[in-house]
Amino acid sequence: MNLILFGPPAAGKGTQAKKLVAERGFVQLSTGDMLRAARSSGSELGLKVSSIMDSGGLVSDEIVIELIKEQLELNSGAAGFIFDGFPRTVPQAEALDKLLETLNSKVDHVIRLKVDDEALMQRIVKRFEEEGRTDDNPESFRKRLDAYNAQTAPLLPIYAEQGKLTEVDGMQQIDVVAREIDKVLGA
Ligand code: ADP
Repeated sequence: MNLILFGPPAAGKGTQAKKLVAERGFVQLSTGDMLRAARSSGSELGLKVSSIMDSGGLVSDEIVIELIKEQLELNSGAAGFIFDGFPRTVPQAEALDKLLETLNSKVDHVIRLKVDDEALMQRIVKRFEEEGRTDDNPESFRKRLDAYNAQTAPLLPIYAEQGKLTEVDGMQQIDVVAREIDKVLGA
């Protein structure tokens, strides 16, 4: 079972992914988490992506595709994967299809968490206060939202056409959102 959690920054993708990991034993593949880990390890890759991430821009497709490829190989026996923050561009979506094909697998579901922009801004302010993420400032956040609208949102009609897209209201309580996701995935 391969699921893409789709939505703008701070839509709640990470929160829902963690629930699915705990409840279903899926493996969460978050390119944001991978890039943050690379950055805090001080690796060459981390240095390279650091300023792009802080500014709110997108890291190159090559870099994130390679990270996903490595993780798919490392977790080859997993019950399922949750892609969180990936794919974010059309080339990334195409690369994901190819990678999964080599594993005789495919994208099964795409769940879009819908949240309005004003609420997102409030969540970001709160997250910055709680976690201190360096890209959770208003300027960078605006740029991340722009990147989402320009480069990531165009993936939605593609997945809709494939009959894989379900929209869930991400303004509901965490448990209600989780129940709706459960319904999509089945028991
Ligand atoms: P958000 O909270 O905005 O959803 P993430 O934690 O997923 O953010 O990602 C943080 C940053 O890491 C992004 O703003 C971007 O710079 C980089 N990043 C994460 N995933 C990708 C990706 N698939 N393609 C390009 N850049 C990415």
